[in-house]
Amino acid sequence: MLTEREESCYVAERPKSQALFERAKASLLEGVPMSWMLRWAGPFPVFVKEANGTYLTDVDGHRYLDLCLGDTGAMFGHSPTATAEAIADQVHRGITSMLPTEDSIWVGEDLARRFGLSYWQIYMTATNANKFALRVARQTTKRNLILVYDGCYHGSLDETLVNYRRERIMGQPPPDLELTTRVIQFNDLDALEAALSSRDIACVICEPAMTDVGIIYPVPGYHEALREMTRRFGTLLIIDETHTICGGPGGLTRAWSLEPDIFTLGKPVAGGFPAAVMGLSREVTQKFMVGPPRQWDMGLGGTLSGNALAVAALRATLEHVITKSAYDCMTRLAERLTDGIDGMIKAADLPWHVLCLGCRVEYRFCPTPPRNGEEAIAAYDTELDRLVHLFFLNRSILLTPFHDMMLVSPETTAEDVDFHNRVFSEFVNELVG
Ligand code: PMP
Repeated sequence: MLTEREESCYVAERPKSQALFERAKASLLEGVPMSWMLRWAGPFPVFVKEANGTYLTDVDGHRYLDLCLGDTGAMFGHSPTATAEAIADQVHRGITSMLPTEDSIWVGEDLARRFGLSYWQIYMTATNANKFALRVARQTTKRNLILVYDGCYHGSLDETLVNYRRERIMGQPPPDLELTTRVIQFNDLDALEAALSSRDIACVICEPAMTDVGIIYPVPGYHEALREMTRRFGTLLIIDETHTICGGPGGLTRAWSLEPDIFTLGKPVAGGFPAAVMGLSREVTQKFMVGPPRQWDMGLGGTLSGNALAVAALRATLEHVITKSAYDCMTRLAERLTDGIDGMIKAADLPWHVLCLGCRVEYRFCPTPPRNGEEAIAAYDTELDRLVHLFFLNRSILLTPFHDMMLVSPETTAEDVDFHNRVFSEFVNELVG
């Protein structure tokens, strides 16, 4: 009932987006340039006119407080000034040439200091960086299998799109998953030891805290044990910080003193401009780069990887945007957001909870935080999820599709946070009367 009311309102208020969607269906697959754009709650997506800072305007003239921020791609706000200026400056001085620019050295030096790994490569997307990270791990260890956690997402990589029940997720990728992938639950050290002890796993690829099925913190001691076991059984550790960079300017790798062999990060690292990075430890590099170059260097990247424009965007973003002072504000406001939501959940005695990971905040419609992917997926309430997204869209707030997640950017203000919390209170009142 409530969902129908919100859906009618969504449609009635967005005639231009609806008309564009109808037109788009004739030329774009399902009416969108990229299929995830269909995963919003409305029957058609909002078409964007422009986005700046933490606000986004659609073609129907609605102005939204954007707490989705491109599902982390725009975590530092839309078009951060320093990034936009660097792009504008470089774009007239060459976009891509298959040759390095001096900025790339600055970027490599900053990344090495920031995350602690010795050698860096630059790619266009996190999916890309992870693909090459897996390739390095396999080539270094001469093993085929990779280990992932149930519910993980590391991009559209065929061999990671599998769940605990060994079902392929998202289509029918070609590889034989028996030959490529083992899946265990996060936070299960016995399962980890059992899997690694066969000594045939090239790498564990993981986020320090899971995010793609909602925030899941590691249990105390998990990372120490993971690192000890991976070393003991000759398995490399790949940490993907594409989302968990929300935890600080050095990601959770720095915040939690993690020691990955291989590190990947995409999405917001160049302020939303397509760029991603992969870092390798000195030890991995030494083992990896054996034999004549043609044996190891081919196929780690693509023609446009490390192009001058992406590198300029990376440098400006690392230097001026991804700073400690920005995170100080972001995490303070994220706590304000979390505390507000927590207070309302408790006051209404709802069986929900809210979690905060740096500048990332998320509520879930279950009483206690899940400990792994299986529990997280079992706790999904698809109906309520759809309703909350529609409710917020109709009140000019964008929440991240796929889950009820919000990001606080350096541009987000206390007024923005309080605005969200007022709408959340309205939502709770509608539900509990
Ligand atoms: N790693 C993680 C942890 C992700 O969540 C995602 C995407 N959500 C990716 C990698 C892939 O990013 P992209 O789609 O930008 O390649």
